[in-house]
Amino acid sequence: MIRKSTRMLRSYFHLFFGPAFRLTSRFPEAFEICKEFRIGREKMLQIANALTKEIQLGLARETHPQAIVKCFLTYIQDLPTGRERGKFMALDLGGTNFRCLLVNLTDGAVMQSTLKSFAISEELMQGPGTDLFDFIAECLAGFCKEQNIGNDRIPLGFTFSFPLQQIGINKGILRRWTKGFRCEGVEGKDVVELLQSAIDRRGDVNVKIVAILNDSTSTLVSCAYSHPDCRIGLIVGTGVNACYVEQTSKAEMLDGYESSQKPIMIINTELGAFGDNGSLDSVRTVYDKTLDIESVNPGSQTLEKCVSGMYLGEVVRHILLDLMRMGVLFRGMRPDEMQTKWIFRTRFISEIESDPPEVFHNARVVLYHLGIKTDDLNDMACLRYICDSISLRSAQLTSCAIVAMINQMNVESCTVAIDGGLCRYHPHYRNLIEQQMSILLKNASAYKIVLSEDGSGLGAALVAAAFANK
Ligand code: ADP
Ligand code: MG
Repeated sequence: MIRKSTRMLRSYFHLFFGPAFRLTSRFPEAFEICKEFRIGREKMLQIANALTKEIQLGLARETHPQAIVKCFLTYIQDLPTGRERGKFMALDLGGTNFRCLLVNLTDGAVMQSTLKSFAISEELMQGPGTDLFDFIAECLAGFCKEQNIGNDRIPLGFTFSFPLQQIGINKGILRRWTKGFRCEGVEGKDVVELLQSAIDRRGDVNVKIVAILNDSTSTLVSCAYSHPDCRIGLIVGTGVNACYVEQTSKAEMLDGYESSQKPIMIINTELGAFGDNGSLDSVRTVYDKTLDIESVNPGSQTLEKCVSGMYLGEVVRHILLDLMRMGVLFRGMRPDEMQTKWIFRTRFISEIESDPPEVFHNARVVLYHLGIKTDDLNDMACLRYICDSISLRSAQLTSCAIVAMINQMNVESCTVAIDGGLCRYHPHYRNLIEQQMSILLKNASAYKIVLSEDGSGLGAALVAAAFANK
């Protein structure tokens, strides 16, 4: 009893005399701005319900063409069995990096895997599609040579994390580029064909693409290898997306879905587009709207722009610019650096939030990098509060997405595999998701959140193994 009241006293003290108090008295403008990013429980439940409904519109044949959350078929109807054997490759094109992976599977175990990463330049992201695929093929050729792959024909799983309408396990039409990519000549085309042609044109690599999938699917499959009850794969990296295990009888876009022999189908929701028809308007702020207008894809990927690593830092920059314009932060300093779009990286948010309470070592370093030389602890506390608010809203919306899929599946328990830069490197992101899920669900502890161990590569290799001889 005494302990409980001490705890309560402490938390009241924190509330009234801690960072929030300091902010209301010292930076009322910042406090008001951050308030707009707060989402209450009722609102979160409404968002989760709205998303479940949009998932259903994506699944149904009649409503699919207009649906915002597309719920594309992945054609993956089996989870790994542990009996996969042999050498397989995976390519992972996600946004910021591109990775090649060689996996050697034996009975129920990954014997050996080798990974190599390559950066995708801005030039490649905006240039012609043929340049992009030639570059990927070139990296793959170099990797095969290094690994002494020789003449064996290796089955490859291609993790391609952009909205893809699949018409088979190794046939996928790119609907539209996202995450800053704009390569001409790819939208509306089969990406497997484009990459396979680039590989075959070289003539020095003996690789066959047997499957295409996105990173959330790959993460789900890879996690299911060690956690057979895994039913959801969720990525919060450069972008955001999720997939889940649906009953085939509800996957109406599959020809013969009513009579399919296989009971399940992994569905790629492409839920980053949630909100494109206005369903997130009540939580979007003026800063989200400015960011959207200035993006390469205005009006699209609304949820993604509130949640993912590509955008969170930029939202913080817009807030800081506003407060600096008002002359209330950083003693009216307005360095040129802060005018540069994207200069406030999302990893800065992680760094700032990694400082222990009331310590602002990383905040000082970040600000210095941005041309702001200050020792004012109040300024830094304000910056941290802004970062906390943006991270929290992101995690709240991510939790709504998980709950929406849980409700759609109507399962009492399952494992949720998560991955992506934000989940992996943000110091509190995963805890925030767990905390928010416990606000939304009665039996939240029945849903276990597992951070995937290189899901984007291993999952693709496992799917390649399943489809190698089909
Ligand atoms: P991709 O989305 O390109 O497949 P990742 O899932 O690894 O790749 O995510 C990379 C993204 O994660 C970066 O673009 C960045 O937005 C974000 N990110 C990278 N490092 C951090 C970090 N320390 N904290 C938060 N986000 C990060
Ligand atoms: Mg990825």
